[in-house]
Amino acid sequence: MGMLKTLTIVVPCYNEEEVLPETVKEIGSIVEDLISQAKISSSSKILFVNDGSRDRTWELISEYSEKYSYVTGIKFTRNYGHQNALLAGMTVAVKYSDMIITIDADLQDDVNAIYQMVDKYLEGIDVVYGVRNSRDTDSFFKRRTALAYYGLMKRLGVNLVPDSADYRLLSKRATEALLQYKERNLFLRGMVPLVGYPSAKVYYPRKERFAGKSKYPLGKMLHFAFDGISSFSIAPIQLILILGILTTSISIIMMVYVLIEKMIGHVLTGWSSLMISIWLLGGIQLISVSVIGEYVGKIFTEVKNRPRYNIEMENFTYKMGDVKKP
Ligand code: UDP
Ligand code: MG
Repeated sequence: MGMLKTLTIVVPCYNEEEVLPETVKEIGSIVEDLISQAKISSSSKILFVNDGSRDRTWELISEYSEKYSYVTGIKFTRNYGHQNALLAGMTVAVKYSDMIITIDADLQDDVNAIYQMVDKYLEGIDVVYGVRNSRDTDSFFKRRTALAYYGLMKRLGVNLVPDSADYRLLSKRATEALLQYKERNLFLRGMVPLVGYPSAKVYYPRKERFAGKSKYPLGKMLHFAFDGISSFSIAPIQLILILGILTTSISIIMMVYVLIEKMIGHVLTGWSSLMISIWLLGGIQLISVSVIGEYVGKIFTEVKNRPRYNIEMENFTYKMGDVKKP
């Protein structure tokens, strides 16, 4: 038998003192189980990322790391947000792990799916998405908005895996590829599908938060949602062009109307020129803004400096000096 693979489970935590004891218990027992089944190596870990909690989260993490050899943690200087916590966890873990699972601390995602994720990895899959097959515990509002959002993103050409969030497994090479995406505005669930590699889904029912309140109030959620759009699509900028063309067309119709009115003769002096210039200038301005916007959009996508492609395998060879220029 070959060497056992090392798993790290990355868990971002922001003021999670109420759930942490249960989280350690549940995820810990799965890690112990997997180690005893000889599915993963005994150096596998749970890596807690304390995202600037103001409660006893870090104290608890420290206590557990003394009690359990497989518990470890990193601590941010302040709150940097869920996505940055995930990224930091992966960046640290990738050096020591063959596979990384990310999961929320609040046990909304069924921890038993970890078994299937690891099995898929051992079958050679690089990316395993955790997909909710029921959202009964989410509010009607959250379900509707989530559905509308996936639809909108799809039309904008962004490939998301519906009903999957940040509960997933990534192999070492998939994580390394993901970490090449250098953008500051992180929207990991949009970035992971861009990495490619063989992927699979495992399904689980989404549960109620085990304890404590959501750390994603409506405002933060909306901000996150728009971040997703603006980091992945320049469609909003292109919308300005349509607006400009529309305004200009209306202004031409207005021009004809105003001139007719003038010829007929029942118009105040100055009204015609005022009307025409307001509409025409408005249209021209919007078009100009959209042209500038187009360039800003290009700079925006360039500046992110994303890798052009990821090579999964190389099965070609050529001799030096044998390369023909196209
Ligand atoms: N979280 C974090 N930093 C934040 C907000 C949230 O690390 O600024 C963590 C939080 O502790 C949890 C996960 O991100 O483990 C998801 O948050 P939450 O469960 O509150 O979001 P919801 O499930 O309500 O969308
Ligand atoms: Mg939650």
